[in-house]
Amino acid sequence: MTHGEQYDWFGLFAPEHGVHRAPPPKAEGPGDGIVFRRSAGARTYRLSLGPDGVAVATIPPRGSMREAERFVELNRKWLERARERQRRRPRAADVWTVGTRVLWRGDLAEIRRAAAGDRPSVCLGADVFRVPRLGDDLRPALHARFIRLAKVELPARAWELAAQTGMDVKRVSVRDQRTRWGSCTAAGAISLNWRLILTPEFVRDYIIHHELMHLREMNHSPRFWACVGEVFPRWREAEAWIKRNGGYAGL
Ligand SMILES: [Zn+2]
Repeated sequence: MTHGEQYDWFGLFAPEHGVHRAPPPKAEGPGDGIVFRRSAGARTYRLSLGPDGVAVATIPPRGSMREAERFVELNRKWLERARERQRRRPRAADVWTVGTRVLWRGDLAEIRRAAAGDRPSVCLGADVFRVPRLGDDLRPALHARFIRLAKVELPARAWELAAQTGMDVKRVSVRDQRTRWGSCTAAGAISLNWRLILTPEFVRDYIIHHELMHLREMNHSPRFWACVGEVFPRWREAEAWIKRNGGYAGL
């Protein structure tokens, strides 16, 4: 792990050790999977549901715990609906066989047996992948193929977009991360999740631009988002795609 400041797509920043990941939720209030958190920057009470299923109630500086609990009560219906939506969110199949539909290059593609050839292979969209045996769970073999391809395609695209936007990138690596799509260090090292090969191209490009723009703004301030909007105006659409479909990619 590289040292220095890092930011990730979910905007969760843990300054300790320079490592960023979703901090384990700290329960400070009554149960129900709701965490109460004071925020110096909050102007009002807020309630949000994180991808980990933990709801966060934000208390403004002059707010009280009692008011926060009342606020949560008033918004309980909203929270229930949000939880329900999260439960219905699509997830990738656990076992992959011929006929399973999986996310591949932005589409739900059916795993099909590849015609002819003396070695067992399958097609996904326009791509053909060799697998050890067709009767097995194909997921481990295909994941390994995807990662190999991602290690070629994603850095190439990152260098291309870095050159286009004039960003001084030192290193691009492809990793297997379960909680984030990408990260960036102040020293110019960008990490990308191999699963970006599963998403549509505009989502992949958005994440790369997002990490590149952290080299200008190491935060998620309005200035940062203005930079993102400048180089990638479709960023909101990409975020919406991730919210809806990230489960298919295993995130
Ligand atoms: Zn970020």
